[in-house]
Amino acid sequence: MIPQLDDRNLLRQAALVAGIWVEPNADAIEVCDPATGELVGRVPRLGAEETRAAIEAARVAQPGWAALTAKERSQILRRWFDLVIANKEDLGRILTAEQGKPLREAIGEIVYGASFIEWFSEEARRVYGDVIPGHQPDKRIMVLKQPVGVVAAITPWNFPNAMITRKVAPALAAGCAIVLKPASQTPFSAVALALLAEQAGVPKGVFSVVTGAARAIGSEMTANAIVRKLTFTGSTEIGAELYRQSAPTIKKLGLELGGNAPFIVFDDADLDAAVEGALIAKFRNNGQTCVCANRIYVEDGVYDAFAEKLSTAVGKLKTGNGFDEGVVLGPLIDHAALEKVEEHIRDAVLKGGKLRQGGARHSLGGTFFEPTVLADVTRDMLIAQEETFGPVAPLFRFKGEADVIEQANATEFGLASYFYAQDVAKVFRVAEALEYGMVGVNTGLISTAEAPFGGVKLSGLGREGSKYGIEEFLETKYVCIGGI
Ligand code: ADP
Repeated sequence: MIPQLDDRNLLRQAALVAGIWVEPNADAIEVCDPATGELVGRVPRLGAEETRAAIEAARVAQPGWAALTAKERSQILRRWFDLVIANKEDLGRILTAEQGKPLREAIGEIVYGASFIEWFSEEARRVYGDVIPGHQPDKRIMVLKQPVGVVAAITPWNFPNAMITRKVAPALAAGCAIVLKPASQTPFSAVALALLAEQAGVPKGVFSVVTGAARAIGSEMTANAIVRKLTFTGSTEIGAELYRQSAPTIKKLGLELGGNAPFIVFDDADLDAAVEGALIAKFRNNGQTCVCANRIYVEDGVYDAFAEKLSTAVGKLKTGNGFDEGVVLGPLIDHAALEKVEEHIRDAVLKGGKLRQGGARHSLGGTFFEPTVLADVTRDMLIAQEETFGPVAPLFRFKGEADVIEQANATEFGLASYFYAQDVAKVFRVAEALEYGMVGVNTGLISTAEAPFGGVKLSGLGREGSKYGIEEFLETKYVCIGGI
């Protein structure tokens, strides 16, 4: 549905290309509410030409932006943060309308997304170089940190706000200009962010939002030599394609790709805490996050008790339209997502998996699916190997530390991992042995602006957030000063 907003202007049906607002024509992208199928609004279907124009404007605008003092950039980012927070209810409503997640969770995402703007407004002033003792008596070595220049960003639909701020805020803080292509399912959150950035004082051309054809825009972003860095969040398949396309121009790359997160419950875990953590790690955003627990390993001694407690808790989760009171699970993003969930369950049940809770399409119809717990899951099942991206908790049984570490690491992905245990020595051993970019110990929620988010193996390159996040948008230049 069309959200009821305090400020109607925030649902801007346009793209922002090179400082100019471009209205949709007859061939526009129609954005629909996944809960109802109703039209939310339209944005222009742009392509290579507009992307090129945005990149060119970024090239022209970037040196002036970089020439501001860090404090000036910081203050503009701070104003942007303040505007986002002041409009968090409206931004949350726009997000729920286009993405489906419950309104409370959507507003939570706005606050989380804004925290990256706040963090990088602060980090902008702490970009330090070095002075290194010279290798000869008359020489000094100076290291400068400079913005990489023009950045291109491509973002997915599962976090229509936060995936953008995690990329745009550090880029702007570092002194880069950026051209963004948001997911076509959820462009309005991105457009609203650009509108507020403009109001905050981000100069024309420094931040463009190009909506439209993914392949055409992506091809221009990767082929264009002006773009020095590409930052992408999405599937490993598309990430690899963009990696290949970026090779001829040797771009820097930030890739946040798929995951297949293990969530391990050891015998000595606090079971209630583990159930609570599993609910968050598995069912947040209806299972549609790249850090969602995808494989839940429970040690033999507590397996039945954990399965019982989790099934009871999952049975109480309310599914529905994200605008309705008390709803904690919205619809899945589209029918393809629904079919993948069904396929994973069908395959598991065929191979001996047992449904403990849910397992079918929801009576609400559309793309709603019952929150599901599946027991007796084994490694030969599809669900063990691929990211489900839906509300299904598959329970695996294990015996001992070595067994579970072997199983947990037996994947080509390496983004998030979680485990629950009390023994301190075990906590250290397991945290060190897990081949993942991130490990949550006795917690199901690890993402925050202060910490480096990112993966290893097929889960990607680079880190977002934290002091490491701004480094990704900086080049290191060495200046040798002789004749001293
Ligand atoms: P998801 O399953 O999360 O949609 P995708 O990798 O398909 O993951 O999409 C993530 C983002 O990448 C979206 O903005 C999408 O439009 C964009 N995208 C998809 N295909 C391409 C492509 N060939 N080139 C550039 N961007 C693409």
